[in-house]
Amino acid sequence: MNVRKSFGTHPVIKGVDVEIADGEFVILVGPSGCGKSTLLRMLAGLENITAGEIRIGEKVVNQLAPKERDIAMVFQNYALYPHMTVAENMAFSLKLKGASKAEIETRVKPAAEILGLSALLGRYPRQLSGGQRQRVAMGRAIVRDPQVFLFDEPLSNLDAKLRVAMRAEIKELHQRLKTTTVYVTHDQIEAMTMADKIVVMHDGVVEQIGAPLELYDRPANLFVAGFIGSPA
Ligand code: ADP
Ligand code: MG
Repeated sequence: MNVRKSFGTHPVIKGVDVEIADGEFVILVGPSGCGKSTLLRMLAGLENITAGEIRIGEKVVNQLAPKERDIAMVFQNYALYPHMTVAENMAFSLKLKGASKAEIETRVKPAAEILGLSALLGRYPRQLSGGQRQRVAMGRAIVRDPQVFLFDEPLSNLDAKLRVAMRAEIKELHQRLKTTTVYVTHDQIEAMTMADKIVVMHDGVVEQIGAPLELYDRPANLFVAGFIGSPA
């Protein structure tokens, strides 16, 4: 993708050019307000782009509505339907697409198993812990078997201990499914421990792109050095 975005006359994404390989786990990291969510929403089709181009595979998707893009997004506030069970929450998008009952079952069951939710399929969101809710939100994404997962600070509402455990779970999930993932966080430790590749953003531009150790050993500038935490 190579994109710009303004709200009114205010440029928020000032020209961001990122290539993501198939199967890669990429983390967009940067301080609050630097444009991470906006960029992710542009990928998802929830935000128009002011200039530039977004491609998924060979396909230019700029003009495609969110549901026409082969992506699934997981938000920080889970956005579960409170009146639906875990199974119904996970099945919802498939139902909308007109999937048969049998098809829904063959997708929901294994996803629930991967996420350790098999025993909780009949529960409602209010009967779940924060970590379990987060897993349901991931389950909703997994059942769609998308080409790309988008995560926007999925762990920021969890306590520190659970956050660390969920990082490992999300990584394991990625190793298992190998789905291309773009993951947003403002937490540099999360970025350093989870990413194949990190995109460091600052005020609507990309400061550096590289593997975690590369950024740590050879930060491109003082901002990256300060943010990633190496003493350059
Ligand atoms: P981040 O996710 O990195 O914290 P955002 O992408 O949410 O940053 O926001 C980037 C900038 O764009 C911020 O200055 C924010 O105030 C602004 N912004 C985000 N959404 C809107 C909007 N709908 N209208 C106007 N300004 C917005
Ligand atoms: Mg954000």
